[in-house]
Order: sequence, then C-alpha cells, then structure tokens
Amino acid sequence: MHELSIAHQLVELAVENADRMGLRRVTALHVRVGALSGVVQEALRFAYDIAAAGTAVEGARLIIEDVPVVIYCPACRAERSLPAPVPARCPVCGTPSGDVRAGRELELYALEGEADEEGNR
Ligand SMILES: [Zn+2]
Repeated sequence: MHELSIAHQLVELAVENADRMGLRRVTALHVRVGALSGVVQEALRFAYDIAAAGTAVEGARLIIEDVPVVIYCPACRAERSLPAPVPARCPVCGTPSGDVRAGRELELYALEGEADEEGNR
C-alpha cells in the first residue's frame, strides 16, 4: 500500500517541522493532494493514523485540500482547471493538452499546534 509510505514521510516531515517551529503539541496537518498524485484520500487517512501513532503528531488531524488538475491550453493561451483529471482537454475550447501545471502535488504545507510558552522552559 503506497499510501502508508507516503503517510510515514508526511509524519516524519511534520515532526521535524514541529520541532523547528517550537510546537509543543501539533493539532493539525494541512496537506495538498493533487488529483493526479495517485493518492486515495481514504487510504491516506487510514495510513496516517497508523503512521502517526506513537509520534509527536499522534492525535493531530489530517486536513486534506484537493488540488484540481490545471492544464495550459495553447489555443486559449490560458491555464484551465479541469473538472475531472481525464480527459486532459481544455474545458472551454476542447483542445487537448499535456501541459500540466498543477494536480501532481502531494505536500505538507502547514501545521497547526500550540507553541512552547515563553518562560516555561
Ligand atoms: Zn482552450
């Protein structure tokens, strides 16, 4: 299950960042998942719970933001976001395009948590 290795990477990254940010407790991880990333969200959520167990981010919520596929349409000379990943074709004029500008993301972009209180060290 490839979501499990992804979940482990996300958890590892979150733990590192929380440490650098001085977060005492992490309450949420914000993750962007592109429609072309190949990640099944339900599988990722399930894997995340397993991967987070026993780490500094255990109990933190996983908040997933969907990123639609965006292609560049050479006919419109514009970026167009697709209502579905397939077909890769401009939704306005119908021109096929393989020039993908977004939708492959799989990234941790924010952490929520409680910082260390000053004078409490
Ligand atoms: Zn177009």
